[in-house]
Amino acid sequence: MTPITLYNSLTRAAEIFEPADPANVRIYSCGPTVYHYAHIGNLRAYLFTDTLSRVLTWKGFGLTHVINITDVGHLTSDADAGDDKMEAAAKKSGQDIWAIAAHYTQAFKQNLKDLNVRDPSRFPLATDHIAEMIAFGEKIADTHCYRLPDGLYFDVSTVPDYGRLAGTRDDAPAEGRIETVEGKRHPADFAIWRTSAPGENRQMEWDSPWGRGAPGWHLECSVMSRQYLGDHFDIHTGGIDHREIHHPNEIAQNQAHACSADTGASIWMHNNFLVDRTGKMSKSSGEFLTLPALVARGFHPLAYRLMCLQAQYRSELEFSWENLAAAQTRLKRLVQSVAALRARGEAKAGGKGAADASPYRERLDAAVSDDLNTPRALPVLDELLADKKVSPQDRLAALEDFDAVLGLNLLTLAREDLRVRPDSAGIDEAQIAARLAERREARAAKDFARSDAIRDTLAALGVEVMDGDPIGWDWKVTA
Ligand code: AMP
Ligand code: ZN
Repeated sequence: MTPITLYNSLTRAAEIFEPADPANVRIYSCGPTVYHYAHIGNLRAYLFTDTLSRVLTWKGFGLTHVINITDVGHLTSDADAGDDKMEAAAKKSGQDIWAIAAHYTQAFKQNLKDLNVRDPSRFPLATDHIAEMIAFGEKIADTHCYRLPDGLYFDVSTVPDYGRLAGTRDDAPAEGRIETVEGKRHPADFAIWRTSAPGENRQMEWDSPWGRGAPGWHLECSVMSRQYLGDHFDIHTGGIDHREIHHPNEIAQNQAHACSADTGASIWMHNNFLVDRTGKMSKSSGEFLTLPALVARGFHPLAYRLMCLQAQYRSELEFSWENLAAAQTRLKRLVQSVAALRARGEAKAGGKGAADASPYRERLDAAVSDDLNTPRALPVLDELLADKKVSPQDRLAALEDFDAVLGLNLLTLAREDLRVRPDSAGIDEAQIAARLAERREARAAKDFARSDAIRDTLAALGVEVMDGDPIGWDWKVTA
């Protein structure tokens, strides 16, 4: 296998990945804030980390991968102003905050399963680490923090190179720091602990040396990454927005805690955004698409996975229904080719092809070892499936590698699985099958009027019958 190169946001360069211990590569991924459903943009972030973890595993590394669940502390503004997103959601819905967190955490994990994202080694919850966060805060309070009436703040001028990751100078506030807190010494200073205001009615709060309140958002990631992966680990990931505020703040905390310039991770990796025509998809705007919303429109979750794989993780990716439909068609074609290959393989079992499949594995390796270049790996897959010089058995065996890396389940997905009935369709699969059987009988009896009538009834219910469809799909739902 070729060495793998990964782009490090810290150095703004692609670097050859050389972990301290190849048998235990340690990765921390910032997890979702569970005050609402994850939108498909958030899910792109975890498709990226899944690709990273699959590629490393396939290349023979052992992994410990942590994805945290943010169930406290993330404010409506990244600049320490506004409400806690969780508290705000609880107030708005009148529900218990713990029930909200549990519900959306569960929904997030289900999304990952549906997308065939492998479980990380752990999903730690921020609220299970309050004591550790307080201990971390106590260690850095005297040397790196100062008190304000509403909490304990980190003074970013006390650490070297603050803002290096963001690519900004420490005196140039990054975008998004418009709202600020009175009394901060520096606009980039941030809360380690937020003390509840007198009369503030919070559902989640804890006692601390800085008063009753809740931890600042950035603290949890420094604490949990250190607890599960050690003072210095290999890779830290997040969406590109985290490069500007959240990760620089984690780095500052890590440096303060370690009393050194070490950022805490060797490589900081960031996925770019999924955008739609109106701009970045965001949870707080309230208008966003979830994975179940795609399924309700007749799309298989793996079609969305494929759509994401068609772009390298560092490029912006535009979501549109057309792009998703094109990805679903591509996935159907792949599944069809695998079915055809299997049929051929069974017909002449044991046959040897003129060529072997290893060049395809090598090209897959070369593509994904180049900073996870999945768009370059996909045409290799197409070529492999079409290469008649390689026996069907060898092609199917090589497909295991593609499945391991790309997670498309091509060896197990059946064409029926991809026929997802939209919620709006007025008919179910069994009824469709029954009508199609009647129609075949009518055609066999040369009763074309009846055959056409059945076709029209199906069309009225949103089912298009596709006679002679080149990819062999005999019906699809158009609703
Ligand atoms: P959040 O739930 O807001 O804490 O975000 C969870 C993850 O999704 C973070 O790594 C974000 O950086 C990432 N993220 C947020 N919006 C998008 C988007 N539109 N496209 C890709 N990643 C995103
Ligand atoms: Zn984080």
